[in-house]
Amino acid sequence: MPELPEVEAWRRALNDPVSAFPIERAGPAHIATLKTFDPPLRELEGRRFRGAERRGKRLFFSTDDGELTLLVHLMTAGRLKFLQAGEKSPKSPAFSLEFQGGSKLILTENAKRKRAGVWLLTPEAAEEELEYLGPEALGLGPDELGEILRKESRRLHAYLRDQRAIAGIGRAWANEILHTAKLSPYALSTDLTDEQVERLAEAINSELARGLELRERGASDEKTYRVHRRLGQPCHLCGMPIAQVDFEEHTIFYCPDDQTGGRVLKDRRLSRLLR
Ligand SMILES: [Zn+2]
Repeated sequence: MPELPEVEAWRRALNDPVSAFPIERAGPAHIATLKTFDPPLRELEGRRFRGAERRGKRLFFSTDDGELTLLVHLMTAGRLKFLQAGEKSPKSPAFSLEFQGGSKLILTENAKRKRAGVWLLTPEAAEEELEYLGPEALGLGPDELGEILRKESRRLHAYLRDQRAIAGIGRAWANEILHTAKLSPYALSTDLTDEQVERLAEAINSELARGLELRERGASDEKTYRVHRRLGQPCHLCGMPIAQVDFEEHTIFYCPDDQTGGRVLKDRRLSRLLR
């Protein structure tokens, strides 16, 4: 799933093109993709977006008259594309907007189950929809992070991914961040020393900034991730092989040498815990 660096890179790329022209035609939209019916999509027609905005992993586009907000959640397989006038459009995108002059913003989802969503809301309803999100991960200071970590005793990998606690981090960047901070994915949030909290805050900011810089240049997953999905490959810090462990419904990647004092973490799949 795209996380803060990926979504922010898209936001920056989309900001100017989506606000260049008013919307000529809103839709069509796949029935599973468009989650709202009131206000109707055609209400967008003739209005202009003021740009692209982001909160956590969510992208949104507000009209410059302050009346409407189009909220987008890409989930795992959703992708947004901006097509110049005349550029070939995929046959049946999940969602499409055409601007005056012929450019288009389209959402495609290459998956059997449509999970990506588009909501057309009033700005107040959009705000409510995003209200549950914690503070933005990028720019989070050690004091604010410390407060969040002390609030609940949770395993770090799961807690960092909880959008209500911190917005923008998913499983890929949780792997990268914890590795850079040299902290165990299973460490309890309330057990961290002040020095470890500081290290974690630093790693959150440096890793997300590194990811954003790479994604803005169009870097692939292979060129971006150093730990995520790198089972058996040498750790870029110590050269030992990267390990993996199943935790709840996710697979975590980590370096035992750097993060767990050489210990191999035990499988904690939900299915196993429930058995
Ligand atoms: Zn290592």
